[in-house]
Parts: sequence; C-alpha cells; structure tokens
Amino acid sequence: YTPTVEPQATWCPGCGDFGVLKSLKQALPEVGRTPEETLLVTGIGCSGKLNSYLDSYGFHTLHGRALPVARAAALANPELEVIAAGGDGDGYGIGGNHFVHTARENHDMTYIVFNNEIFGLTKGQTSPTSPKGHKSKTQPHGSAKTPIRPLSMALTSGASFVARTAAVNPNQARDILVQAMEHDGFAHVDFLTQCPTWNKDARQYVPYTDINDSEDYEFDPTNRADAQELMRETEDKLYEGEVLTGIYYREDDRPSYQEEKKQLGELPEEPLAERYFDEDYDWERSYDRFIDQHK
Ligand code: SF4
Repeated sequence: YTPTVEPQATWCPGCGDFGVLKSLKQALPEVGRTPEETLLVTGIGCSGKLNSYLDSYGFHTLHGRALPVARAAALANPELEVIAAGGDGDGYGIGGNHFVHTARENHDMTYIVFNNEIFGLTKGQTSPTSPKGHKSKTQPHGSAKTPIRPLSMALTSGASFVARTAAVNPNQARDILVQAMEHDGFAHVDFLTQCPTWNKDARQYVPYTDINDSEDYEFDPTNRADAQELMRETEDKLYEGEVLTGIYYREDDRPSYQEEKKQLGELPEEPLAERYFDEDYDWERSYDRFIDQHK
C-alpha cells in the first residue's frame, strides 16, 4: 500500500506541512494500514488541507472540532486507524477543551498538531504558541501572553503518549508517527512546522536534539515524573532557541476508552458501524429509544 497525493498540494513553497504529509505517507505503510482502514479528520487552517492530499478516508470538520468527530468515528469503528490533525490555533486554542478531555479519556487515536506558532491560513495572527513579545497584525506591539505548554498540557490532562517532532526531520517524524499509531490510546504528537510566509522567525529552523538518542538527556519515557520535568525544561528552551524532540512519555498498559467501554459492556465486540450494513440487524436509533423512555 502506497498512499498517493492527489491533487497537487497547494501549500506555500518551503511550508512545514509538506514534511507532515511526507512522514505520514511513509508511516502508514509501516503500520500496515490501507486507505479503507484509515480515517484522517482535520480542523480548519493550512493543516486542514492534509486529508485532501492523502489517499484515505477524510473528514474536514469545523474550526477546532477535529477531535470530537475523530472520537465518534473511533467509537463507532474501533478497527479504523483514526488520525486527527490541526494547527496550534485550531487544536490548542479553539479546540483546547476537546484536547484536554480527549487526552483525559484516552481515546484511541493519533493527534497531530501542526505547531508553527501562528495562524497561517488567515495570514499570521498570534496563536496560543506564539512567544511572548511576538508581533503580528493582531498584536502589533507584541504579544503580552505567555505561550501554552502543549506537552505538559497533554501529560497533565492524561494523554498516554506524548511526543514532539519537527518537519525538518521527516525520518524522526515518520518513526514517531509509526509508534503513535501503534499505541493503543491517545497519542499526541506536537509537530513543529515552519511557516516561511508568515513566521520567518520561528525556531523550527534551528538544529534540534533527539531526547531519545542523546547522552545529555538520559531519562525513562515511561516515568511520568521524568517526563514532566523534561517537558518543563523543553518548553522553556524552545523559546530560547533550543529544540528538543522525541518521545517524552508513553504508558502502554493503560486501557483506551474503547477498551474500557467494552469491558463495561457498553461497546459491542462487533464495530457499531457495521450494523448499518447488516440487513438483518433490527436498528434502533438511540434518539428513538430516548424519546420512548421519556414519553
Ligand atoms: Fe504553510 Fe504558512 Fe503557507 Fe500556510 S501560510 S501554507 S502554514 S507556509
């Protein structure tokens, strides 16, 4: 299976989004997923075009709403490889509430956040990851806001896999995406993507360190306290010009939301989605059942 890109991607030359697409195209065959088994749900922004360029099922949702749509799909068909994607403004700002609760509930999916520290599609406005002092049309005198800490936020909320990678290194990105997709539970990948059109100052161009492959950063990614400390250090260093990428945290024995639902008897073994195609199944819509119960 080789996913194709059709039609030609229309991102600006040099955009980091090409790196996400490339690494995703390389990662999917490695996890052995076909287009029929893959759903890519996106939010709004330059990143939202991702599912137009990948040969798989796709759903382009409202701004900030990729995660609730992806959650519903993963619940209806747990056999699907569900990937949600969006930008830092879409995912950490507008959809921030969904991010916290999808991580907390450990829904089985991969969430890729294109982090270019601005809103790109709408011409470079300040976003939740823009550094303090960053000047834009919406903050002409410089942002007075402290940027969000996406890695710490994911860990604190309950994500069972947290990583950061960068478009300038598609090989590391591919390996991290493979591990994120193979992980059972909510896998958050903060993907640093340069925007040469609206954010020429972003740190994504600078050399980076792979924390999983560096003698300077010996730590155990299965140890929550270690991960928390390193994330804090990393998130400060990013704005000082040092980029630390890699897998920060993984908790492989925690059941996903789908597995917990099955254990409670609330989710059948057979995917709910298949019932739509079963002519013998006596479908009872939950809305009808609700009305009957409350007459
Ligand atoms: Fe990429 Fe920025 Fe162009 Fe959007 S505006 S396609 S993020 S370079």
